[in-house]
Amino acid sequence: MSKFETRAIHVAQHPDDKTGGVIPPIHMTTTHKQDGVGNLREGYEYNRAANPTRSALQEALASLEGGRFGMSFSSGLAAEDAIIRGVLAVGDHVILANDMYGGSYRLFARVHKAWGIDFSIVDLNDSAALEAAFIPGKTKMVWIETPSNPMMTIFDIAAVAAVARKHGAISVVDNTFATPYLQRPLELGADIVMHSTTKYLGGHSDVLGGAVVLNDAEMAKKIEFIQFAVGAVSSPFDAWLTHRSLKTLALRMDRHCTNGQAVAEFLVTQKKTVAEVYYPGLVDHPGHDVAKKQMDGFGGIISFKLAGGTEAAKKFCENTELFTLAESLGGVESLVNYPAEMTHASANGTPIEVSGDIVRLSVGVEHISDIIADLTQALERL
Ligand SMILES: *Cc1c(COP(=O)(O)O)cnc(C)c1O
Repeated sequence: MSKFETRAIHVAQHPDDKTGGVIPPIHMTTTHKQDGVGNLREGYEYNRAANPTRSALQEALASLEGGRFGMSFSSGLAAEDAIIRGVLAVGDHVILANDMYGGSYRLFARVHKAWGIDFSIVDLNDSAALEAAFIPGKTKMVWIETPSNPMMTIFDIAAVAAVARKHGAISVVDNTFATPYLQRPLELGADIVMHSTTKYLGGHSDVLGGAVVLNDAEMAKKIEFIQFAVGAVSSPFDAWLTHRSLKTLALRMDRHCTNGQAVAEFLVTQKKTVAEVYYPGLVDHPGHDVAKKQMDGFGGIISFKLAGGTEAAKKFCENTELFTLAESLGGVESLVNYPAEMTHASANGTPIEVSGDIVRLSVGVEHISDIIADLTQALERL
């Protein structure tokens, strides 16, 4: 099999048979002509079931994660919902980490709990606590987000997946922050990997989407059934945009990683205004060794704590000029986010609440000197 960068460009991207178009056309069609009742061309009949542009993206996603089955959804949360509904049943119990994307927590706490799926929140790095959290016969899934959003905690995928398996549970990894270029959870022993492709895979802050990749055929069938029966699929155009973005993923991630490391090292020197920097590429980050072992780079997301507390954190977010104050992350442009009132507002008052003195940066691929200059002026004006 060819290398990652090559597969990102060529898997399911054969020139168009009829016209030779190097880029396959977008199949903007909801339905397909049948050559006699039930006599389908290549299995296509209706867009909710399958569409050639989406099939191509799904094949590429599976290839990049090193899995057999790939699925593309209309959002990351739709992908999560399909996993939960496909694999779990009423009465099951899930173990969640103590730091995760607020929307994922909300999906468990405010949607699926009411439909009979319970959960516990555990520090997945505390092996005694993790062992104790399994409820025999009930715990069917451990949800691992690493690096976690927004505190950049690193969890050991191989270790947690092994404990889950020992207890008869599956492990799911939200690989949104790392991307398959930097981390491939299936190779580390996880059962399912999912993404918000809205972030780095899409990479340009212009298309919402989610992905699921796995190896187990029986579980894949169950999740594919939810995808088909519920219908939260990506549109052909969204699938095409996402596939187009995959082709530059490796290039973009290399730059996100070097810019991220430079920004983290700069922030550490700002002792008067910055109290703490959370980035796994820093050697004194508590997850640095595990990150080095399971990742091929540390990515472009950095969180930090302002010495001046909540007021300074909010002011910093309003002081930046190159960094745009906005939700989301993983695009080519640098963004700044205030988790406590933005991405993680729904986590306030819950065990995964984010403290008000925390700011999260999504470091883009602009020139590093412009990035550092903006951060410098934003900190100076606190
Ligand atoms: C954004 C995000 C999600 C949710 O994805 P959507 O595409 O917004 O539905 C899930 N997990 C992580 C880590 C995210 O950052």
